[in-house]
Amino acid sequence: MAEKIECAVIGGGVVGLAIARKLAMSGREVVVLEAEEHFGTHTSSRNSEVMHAGIYYSTGSLKARLCYAGRNALYRYCAEHAVNHRRIGKVIVACDESELAGLEKYRRQAEVNGCDDLRMLTQQELEDMEPEVRCVAGFLSPSTGIIDAHGLMLAYLGDLESHGGALALRSPVLSGRLSSEGILLEVGGQESMSLLCRTVVNSAGFNAQAVARSFEGLAPVSVPSTYYAIGHYYGLSGKAPFNRLIYPVARQDWLGVHVTIDLGGQVKFGPDFAWIDRIDYRFDESREAAFYKAIRRYYPGLKDNALRPGYTGIRPKIHGPGEPAPDFVIQGPHDHGVPGLVNLYGIESPGLTSSLAIGDYVTGLLGP
Ligand SMILES: Cc1cc2nc3c(=O)[nH]c(=O)nc-3n(C[C@H](O)[C@H](O)[C@H](O)COP(=O)(O)OP(=O)(O)OC[C@H]3O[C@@H](n4cnc5c(N)ncnc54)[C@H](O)[C@@H]3O)c2cc1C
Repeated sequence: MAEKIECAVIGGGVVGLAIARKLAMSGREVVVLEAEEHFGTHTSSRNSEVMHAGIYYSTGSLKARLCYAGRNALYRYCAEHAVNHRRIGKVIVACDESELAGLEKYRRQAEVNGCDDLRMLTQQELEDMEPEVRCVAGFLSPSTGIIDAHGLMLAYLGDLESHGGALALRSPVLSGRLSSEGILLEVGGQESMSLLCRTVVNSAGFNAQAVARSFEGLAPVSVPSTYYAIGHYYGLSGKAPFNRLIYPVARQDWLGVHVTIDLGGQVKFGPDFAWIDRIDYRFDESREAAFYKAIRRYYPGLKDNALRPGYTGIRPKIHGPGEPAPDFVIQGPHDHGVPGLVNLYGIESPGLTSSLAIGDYVTGLLGP
């Protein structure tokens, strides 16, 4: 006999928790089903912890809209809920003349996306603000910040629980069946169960496609392909030589090896980018030489042996090598024809920044 619940969110990462809290706050009975022993142990704890301003994303895309709305909401949320964060600002730099066009392209796209506080910096200002950085031009994004992602997830979980929702750990969703009575989920773990839900939100990160493919009754053609791309981070020993985040103009379709500073003041460089064919977080130390080379383009003062292997994160991709980077894919009942079901695919960066706005968007797709 199946247990019944109004709404199940599959995946207790920052996005699943943001959606669950919003659904609970709109009066629904909600459980988050999380496969692991703790929440947020995958992409949500293996990222740069940057609150992006919304500069890069294509006009009108979900990434552009949800990042811009999400970061404004997130700054307010962090202030109200005492989530540790800092509006530290970011300097985007052209390391040589060939990158000036790229810098200008960012500036124009940022304007279109509503980021109206960017400021071109003079050489003197660049030198005064970031004396260790070598570049030919740069601009400041004052609205870029850093955040404690774990603290944010704890706050989302607090909202969920205080509105009657629950997080079920060690509860992997094995399969689902769509029927006229609702969506029947088979949940594994020590206390396996069948759960009949009126609403299901599949927010399982890089596993979302596998979860969707297990849903009997959902057209497989609606599920995108699965790809993974790993990124490595190296830490810098000693005191931070920078005052803000430093991003070089991207030379590829990812943001390049940039500088982030965590809330404890530690500098890290990364992430780099490599396609992989399975989930494997192992750190590949053979990347070190490429990091030194990339970093010294804008930070020539980087000393030998100053980098320390840090950690890796894996981007949940829905496109493969050589294909253009797609938008977030968030499919509701109007897209796949199944009442009460939302599937989220390819929620890579800026998913953390966008999480509150994604929660609003998904709740909107499900209607009253
Ligand atoms: C290298 C890197 C750097 C990034 N930097 C930034 C940044 O600076 N700023 C920013 O805004 N964004 C950044 N991002 C993006 C951001 O981290 C993600 O968008 C966000 O963490 C995605 O959250 P999520 O909840 O969708 O996924 P996840 O955190 O992966 O959560 C999915 C959850 O689903 C669970 N799960 C999977 N399968 C099942 C199942 N069958 N049953 C139950 N549970 C299941 C998993 O255990 C996991 O906990 C970065 C991403 C990467 C990879």
